[in-house]
Amino acid sequence: MENLKIYIDRLKGGHTHKIEETLPPEFMDLDDDELLFEEPIHVSGDAYLADDHLIIHLNITTSALLPCSICNDAVETPIAIKNIYLTEPLAEIKGAIYDCAEQVRETILLQTPLFTECNNGKCPERESIKKFLKPEEKPSAPGDIVHFPFADLDK
Ligand SMILES: [Zn+2]
Repeated sequence: MENLKIYIDRLKGGHTHKIEETLPPEFMDLDDDELLFEEPIHVSGDAYLADDHLIIHLNITTSALLPCSICNDAVETPIAIKNIYLTEPLAEIKGAIYDCAEQVRETILLQTPLFTECNNGKCPERESIKKFLKPEEKPSAPGDIVHFPFADLDK
């Protein structure tokens, strides 16, 4: 995570600090039953000074496991954050080094969807819920489905 530490003095005179880091999923440090990170987190970008601000430009890719909002199965949900800009006033940076790890972490959490649905948005249990209004009902065999009320969502 050394790469996320930015030496402010080294940016003076128009220099850029390149960020290229693969963080372990433990970096997210979450104690959450529902949201799980199990994949490495790739962070790339650069940091530079603009007037009296530190600008950190980042691309972040990883994936998280979220429960399907219908059947509760864990769903692998890709997270791709492109060209996000974080800014920090230099006046608020204490010391010579700015560690953007916490900002990276918060950015990932902000960009992680709150809800997901398995099977690309077509949870097999949707049908059971619609028919019986009992979320615990197991889906019927595919051959048994004669009417699919969500079919027009694809248009
Ligand atoms: Zn589901």
